[in-house]
Amino acid sequence: MISIAISGAAGRMGFTLVRCIETSNKFRLVAAVDRQAHPDAGRDIGTLAGCKEAGVKLSDSLLPYISNANVLIDFAFHEATPANVEIAADSGKPAVIGTTGLTQEEMSNILSSAARIPIVYAPNMSLGVNLLFSVLTKSAKTLGDDYSISIEETHHIHKKDAPSGTALRLGEKVAEGLGKKFSSIMFHDEEGKSEVIPEGKLPVRSYRRGEIVGDHTVIFENTAERIEFTHHAWNREAFAMGALRAAQWITDKAPGLYDMQDVLDLR
Ligand code: NAD
Repeated sequence: MISIAISGAAGRMGFTLVRCIETSNKFRLVAAVDRQAHPDAGRDIGTLAGCKEAGVKLSDSLLPYISNANVLIDFAFHEATPANVEIAADSGKPAVIGTTGLTQEEMSNILSSAARIPIVYAPNMSLGVNLLFSVLTKSAKTLGDDYSISIEETHHIHKKDAPSGTALRLGEKVAEGLGKKFSSIMFHDEEGKSEVIPEGKLPVRSYRRGEIVGDHTVIFENTAERIEFTHHAWNREAFAMGALRAAQWITDKAPGLYDMQDVLDLR
């Protein structure tokens, strides 16, 4: 049994993880942490997540519980993530980070923690998307500049960051195949409103619609043909199950920063 502490436990991903852990015989929940002054603090997280009692109360602090956990899983808010991961690092506990929208400074704090503990950081934990990552670099390398390439992502209207972390990672994989730096070719086309895409740029179109969990498409197109790679996440279990797979993988790894390509042996 692998003991899991969740940070961001009262969020959409947190609740999904709680439900997945409840039905698993490989994992058990030992801590459920969310922001300070959360209105549900002190209540049973299983009940809050809509399953049976978990015997774990929603708390506002990771520190008292981290020693009981084998792995921290963080799906919270980017400003909170480095501090939670540092608490894990201070106790020598591995961390799996799903939170997106981390700034450069927050990312460098994560890297400092990765010198002490193994960390899996992946903006998209789904197995399908990670398989997509692994074919995109090769596709871009093969098709190259003879095709115009674009990326589209659609998510629910509550999503705070745009483009999505996944869309950015898809772009990095394409850029890698083209032998270019993603930051120098990325063009964020919010809601697809731009009429003109500057020459040599890779448009990343982000849409916010209803309750869509996460759709990503990468398109390669020229006058002769069009190739689309599309991934639809039907529900958040796709991410939660990936995070739990990462939690299982990471328990015996050396300190360092890893991603789902490492977890799934896709390099
Ligand atoms: P959400 O807003 O429903 O949940 C986030 C939770 O974090 C909230 O309950 C919030 O109160 C809590 N939080 C805020 N500050 C905190 C703190 N200091 N300590 C602990 N918890 C704190 O969001 P969500 O849809 O569950 O997504 C959470 C994050 O995960 C986002 O960054 C999202 O983009 C990302 N995400 C990643 C993947 C992936 O596969 N990597 C998949 C889905 C979502």
